[in-house]
Amino acid sequence: MNNTIEEIKNKLDIVTFINSFIPIKKFGRNYKGLCPFHQERTPSFVVSPERQIWHCFGACQEGGDLIRFLMKWENITFIEALRELADKAGVKLTKVSFEDKLWKKKERMIGINLLASEFFEFVLHKTQIGEKARDYLKKRSLETKFIKKFQLGYAPLSWDSLLKFFKKKKYEESELLDSGLLVKSVRGGLYDRFRGRLMFPIKNARSNIIGFSGRILDENVKEAKYINTPETLLYHKRESLFGINLAKEAVKKENNIFLVEGEFDVISPHKLGIENIVAIKGSALTREQLMLLKKFTNKITLAFDSDTAGEEAMKKGVEEAENFEFDVNIVNLDFAKDPDEAIHRDPIKFKKAMENSVPFYDFLIEIAQNKNPKNDPYSKKHIAEEVIVFIEKIKNPIVQSHYIKKIAAILDVSEASIQVLMSKLKRKRLQRFTLPSQKKTVTEMMREIIIQKYLLSLIFQSQDPYRLAEEIFKTFTIEDLSVPAFKKICNLFLKYKEKQERFYLNRFIETLPSELKSVFDELFLFASTEIEAKNEKIEKLIYEAKRFSLKRRISQLLSSESSDDNEMKESLRRTNQELTLVEKKIIAL
Ligand code: ATP
Ligand code: MN
Repeated sequence: MNNTIEEIKNKLDIVTFINSFIPIKKFGRNYKGLCPFHQERTPSFVVSPERQIWHCFGACQEGGDLIRFLMKWENITFIEALRELADKAGVKLTKVSFEDKLWKKKERMIGINLLASEFFEFVLHKTQIGEKARDYLKKRSLETKFIKKFQLGYAPLSWDSLLKFFKKKKYEESELLDSGLLVKSVRGGLYDRFRGRLMFPIKNARSNIIGFSGRILDENVKEAKYINTPETLLYHKRESLFGINLAKEAVKKENNIFLVEGEFDVISPHKLGIENIVAIKGSALTREQLMLLKKFTNKITLAFDSDTAGEEAMKKGVEEAENFEFDVNIVNLDFAKDPDEAIHRDPIKFKKAMENSVPFYDFLIEIAQNKNPKNDPYSKKHIAEEVIVFIEKIKNPIVQSHYIKKIAAILDVSEASIQVLMSKLKRKRLQRFTLPSQKKTVTEMMREIIIQKYLLSLIFQSQDPYRLAEEIFKTFTIEDLSVPAFKKICNLFLKYKEKQERFYLNRFIETLPSELKSVFDELFLFASTEIEAKNEKIEKLIYEAKRFSLKRRISQLLSSESSDDNEMKESLRRTNQELTLVEKKIIAL
């Protein structure tokens, strides 16, 4: 197994590989770019060709090799990523190397879901029991072509028809239970979760069935209209988007995706040739869904239900989408309850509405204007208050400036007054997130660690680490490091230095225990990000690191219950003296 991984890594260069997904540029010994796993404007994603690793120093604080990168990029398991990479590298994977239990379980569950969907489809199309559901679909004017395209089915109104079907095929009870298709009763027996329901298979972007939703046929039954597969190994509600498997290609072509609430709101537009459309299935738009969509497009267009719940969902969704820097547009479907109904009322009008989507913020301003139609100062105030909460959070300065101008013009007030209101809101929002008493110590602690990381990073990245280490450790010693792992690495570095005349990066790494290797990798890449230290002289940073250490020492001394009071006082005096000297140096530099 390890040999195979090494072989793959030898064949595929991490810089070329990652560069095929996102742009990265050479920076010193490393490469850097914007992290694809979170939103950012200054690059904190670093790739090392020498170490064949990557690390994100921004929000993710995560890193690894190219397998880890692909796992994260495609949201797949280790084995899945390895398979893909082996394929790409032309490396044969031997069967024995594949004993990944989780992956096998997932594969099996995908198989179970596929069988179940075939069972549901069979019942719908080929049996007497399915007639009720066929009639229902007729009533909703869904032709066979689209029923088949979405592989709709029918789960019989019975407690055990699916159970019996699987028992005959010799499946274990435990794996059926894990798939979410069956439920365990209080008495311990299994029964079918979906009974008497129209079945919609939910697929992931790779077209595997990850779960189901089932709709009742008779609205008068006192049961939930829709039920879904619970959270399983495959199905994660927050990540699922009904229709994504069919939407992928069209989304890339149109560079836009329509988001709707329900299953039928996805299926009906397909009848009009609109395929770049997915459903969030009645819950709020999540970060996970947006992250998935970001791989395909930068623009989302919301066509949610035109009720207050839909409006709320829209506002929440936009806040999340703004964090991912999506262009967010809105479709106005005020002539119907939801897209499915709109198509039945007037397909031409529907299509036009979809084509004439407007930026969310224009729509927001319009709603606020309609709610406050008068032209008096108080109406103006209300309009501004409703809208500016959103405008204030816009990430892109051009877009934001556009709307500040627009609101000012509409209300016939100065742009400055809008700006004032915005800063007030912003201050309020930020205050909610910081604890004034803690703020200073937390940021200072972070700065101390950042400086230490930076200095060590400079040493390990330099052409002559021995010389630079001597330079840096003249004032600031290894004992001054506050992170134990950093200390350990530096001590091992000194040990290596005693034995070896020259520093060889990879040989040195081999001397590190495995738990320190990832710490070292992070240190090695850190200086490439320039964080904090951009315009600061190294010498000054060295003294600053020393100052942090001395201050820590002083507070330790003050809080220690030393048995020898005089000795403590003497240490305190000496440390204070040293601190004064260091501070003088810092000022002079
Ligand atoms: P239909 O057109 O089949 O009547 P709808 O989409 O118009 O459905 P809504 O009540 O607007 O129904 O709900 C929107 C979506 O929310 C549904 O399509 C479904 O995906 C989801 N949903 C509705 N009710 C439930 C429920 N009880 N539990 C879980 N999800 C639900
Ligand atoms: Mn509907």
